[in-house]
Amino acid sequence: MNRELIAAELLSLITETRERVNYVQEIGVVGIQPESLRVEEKTKQISGAPLRANQPASLPSSPSLASSPSVNASLLEAAEKPGLQQPKIQLLPQDGLFGDLTPTETLSKTSESFEQIWADLAGCTRCPLHQGRTNIVHTEGNRQARLMFVGEAPGADEDAQARPFVGRAGQLLTKIIESLGLKREEVMIGNVNRCRPPGNRPPTQEEAAMCKPFLLREIASVQPEVIVVLGNTAMRNLLETREGITKLRGRFQDFKGIKIMPTFHPAYLLRDPSKKRETWEDLKKVRDYLDSTAKRASVS
Ligand code: URA
Repeated sequence: MNRELIAAELLSLITETRERVNYVQEIGVVGIQPESLRVEEKTKQISGAPLRANQPASLPSSPSLASSPSVNASLLEAAEKPGLQQPKIQLLPQDGLFGDLTPTETLSKTSESFEQIWADLAGCTRCPLHQGRTNIVHTEGNRQARLMFVGEAPGADEDAQARPFVGRAGQLLTKIIESLGLKREEVMIGNVNRCRPPGNRPPTQEEAAMCKPFLLREIASVQPEVIVVLGNTAMRNLLETREGITKLRGRFQDFKGIKIMPTFHPAYLLRDPSKKRETWEDLKKVRDYLDSTAKRASVS
């Protein structure tokens, strides 16, 4: 291996380690048990064994780890040393890192401005949700965004401030965005429904169907590269599926040529913080994908 390759390899290991430490701190782990660093523990994680609750985070399905030949190779090498139990190493299939999907149809870019789209929503009474709203909550953010987040519908804080994701779940979403190295203002944030459902219930299929076309017009106008759908309502409405988020999360899906990443809703993460680990794994895939397309753009 030449020096540049070794340097690049080291740099990527340092980056990976730094990310893990940040993540482990983020999910509240305060100490690392030495035995968890043994090779057999690592190989168990790689071959898909469940993690103990107090075990430091490992990201077995992280694309950069799963697809790194050097990581697999060094584990194999270590495993062959005398005195160590022969680990069961499952060589991971090198399938398309970013779920290379062939879109069946693509969304043509439009030149509509958000203001034009919103004009069609002025005083909207298309569905019963208008009866309880204080404000219509429109999509906000960078209109050249490469990344968009879509949630369900406004809650009380959003209804009062006429802005999406500004309550507790929104604050967590902002942190999630920042953990990707982005500012909230750099992405787009919207919802399937723009009026607050009573008691924060999910919008019905009819209510969602009335509001969704306006979101689709915004998406067509901005054409983000990736849309992260947060929770069941957003995922089901954009992907037109009845599947649950637990089944589809973490796997890129196609929406008319735009990549969709389903992951847990931040409100769910507030109720079950243990799900932050999986959410972070999903979002790392998004970040890696956006990094890869940015690199491609800068060399072409
Ligand atoms: N939950 C959502 O789905 N959207 C918001 O804007 C706020 C909370």
